[in-house]
Amino acid sequence: MGKRLHNTSINSIQVETLIQKIKKNIVCPLRFPLDIERVYQRERLKQREKEFFLLGFIALILYNLFNITDRIMLPDISKIALIIRLGIVTPLGVLVLLSQRISILREKIDSLIAILVVIVSWSVILLLLISNSPNVLHYYSGIVLIVLCGNIVFRMAFKCAFFSSLIVFFSYCMAAPFIIKGRFDVLFNSVIVLLSGIVMSLIGSYYLEKEDREKFLLRTKLELDKKNLEEINVLLEKKVKRDPLTKLYNRDFFDYNFNKEWNLALRYKYPIGIIFLDIDDFKAYNDNYGHQAGDYVLKQVSEVLYKNANRFHELPARYGGEEFILLLPHVNLEEALKLGEKIRREVEDLHLVHDYTTYGIVTVSVGVCSVIPRSNLKKEDLVLAADSAMYHSKKTGKNRVTPCNLK
Ligand code: GH3
Ligand code: MG
Ligand code: MG
Repeated sequence: MGKRLHNTSINSIQVETLIQKIKKNIVCPLRFPLDIERVYQRERLKQREKEFFLLGFIALILYNLFNITDRIMLPDISKIALIIRLGIVTPLGVLVLLSQRISILREKIDSLIAILVVIVSWSVILLLLISNSPNVLHYYSGIVLIVLCGNIVFRMAFKCAFFSSLIVFFSYCMAAPFIIKGRFDVLFNSVIVLLSGIVMSLIGSYYLEKEDREKFLLRTKLELDKKNLEEINVLLEKKVKRDPLTKLYNRDFFDYNFNKEWNLALRYKYPIGIIFLDIDDFKAYNDNYGHQAGDYVLKQVSEVLYKNANRFHELPARYGGEEFILLLPHVNLEEALKLGEKIRREVEDLHLVHDYTTYGIVTVSVGVCSVIPRSNLKKEDLVLAADSAMYHSKKTGKNRVTPCNLK
């Protein structure tokens, strides 16, 4: 599973339910269950980290551009405006930007932006309150811009956008009669414009967050589904490839790979070796020691085979009941014989008591073959030759290795 969902109990069904909920309802609470909410917030912060600095920088420059407007529109308080904008509010903004370097404050970014929106709005309201210029009538538009910027551009969480907008709106409503004295028409218009700006931007903010959450859920669902599929795939692969008792590859998988390897060896003209082995007097072992003990022997012999298939393309498989095969691409007869003898000896060294066979312990008869494939040879000939060699070992006393006579 990807890092993002590490250590969480989020599951696919839970996420699917949330997706349906969010899709169906036009209005729904913008909050996930705790576990998912945590991952969502973590991701959201990470995504916004970079853009936040750029946006903050642009917003501060635009805010200070109003120093020029202040000189023209509110000449009586332009010096105080400069001090408030450049000396108080801008450093506060910079502090909020820098606070993002501190991890505890990073999580509080929405609240910090909300507070900043309120402070910036208050700074404008304050300037309007102390100015006697008749131009104060037009300045409310600046407050609309501040709210829009917080709610839409900075994409504050809807909850924070809602509360900061509410505070800004009521602050303006309380201050407006003292700013726009005796002009009820202008006052009313300014309140309606601000209210419209706030309502519109809050609707925008709500849908932006809803969409963001929906995308997050879809991403998460995709990742969880992928993980499930991977797990199923591993299981299926095991079932398709492996023999359940010995965990060696099964006959089907051997045949499939043998075909591939044979064709490659035919094309590039290199030898391909086969070791065929059969446990000696295994029926007698089963009959006398029981099937379970027999299974144990099969596993032990498989282990030996598995240990000796070291190279990448070497493939140990259970060929039948107590018959095993080892596919050895790039291995000539001499090397294959050496390996066959090593395997025979290692089975002997297991010292698994077997009183109903010649040697008193479990042994294997081995047949070894290797050829460079050519067009007049079938791949089945190679297995057949190794099998015949193995039977030769049986006939000549068991517990031995015989090379095939295929050239
Ligand atoms: P030989 O030395 O000539 O190979 O004699 P053998 O007794 O080993 O050969 P035979 O073919 O007569 O018997 C094979 C036995 O392998 C018969 C069967 O009970 C046993 N066998 C096959 N598959 C399994 C298995 O999965 N578990 C167990 N315990 N025994 C198995
Ligand atoms: Mg057999
Ligand atoms: Mg046998």
